[in-house]
Amino acid sequence: MKTPQETDCRRTSTSFMFIGCSDSRVSEGTVFNARPGTFFTERNIANQFHATDANAHSVMSYALAELGVKHIIVMGHYGCGGVAAAIASAPSAPIDAANGAVQNWIDPIRAIFQTSTRPEIVELREKNKLLAKVEEPEPQEPGFRALVEENVKASVRRIATDSVIANHYAHSLATQQ
Ligand SMILES: [Zn+2]
Repeated sequence: MKTPQETDCRRTSTSFMFIGCSDSRVSEGTVFNARPGTFFTERNIANQFHATDANAHSVMSYALAELGVKHIIVMGHYGCGGVAAAIASAPSAPIDAANGAVQNWIDPIRAIFQTSTRPEIVELREKNKLLAKVEEPEPQEPGFRALVEENVKASVRRIATDSVIANHYAHSLATQQ
């Protein structure tokens, strides 16, 4: 029997790559009742994928090239604290380094909130414009729920157009001919 340190991740039959939120309530093992070896996983605040994120990019590259993963799951969750923070007013200066790192990380979600044309998001955005300071929304707020969904879609779009995916498909097509 191997100890975890001796387990070679190339020898598992991992079929899925999972991108999820760091929130402890949405661990892939718990949500899917999955056994070790099911998911090759990347988790970060608000389940984002960015090509400029070397960690996520290398996880995806390895998943495709070495593990033969066929499916990439991006799982968001309603009530996500990272998405809620992107709706609330940004903290006023001076902000400490830790808070600054989080604010930088959720900036792309703020951008989705500011530019989305989805009606629930537009409604919440217009409502918030009337407030001097916007607090984090309640989990059932429709605009918040819609932003959770749009944030997942944004990561899926970035993955679909990523160079690693494009190269992998090109290589797969070439070797099939
Ligand atoms: Zn979350």
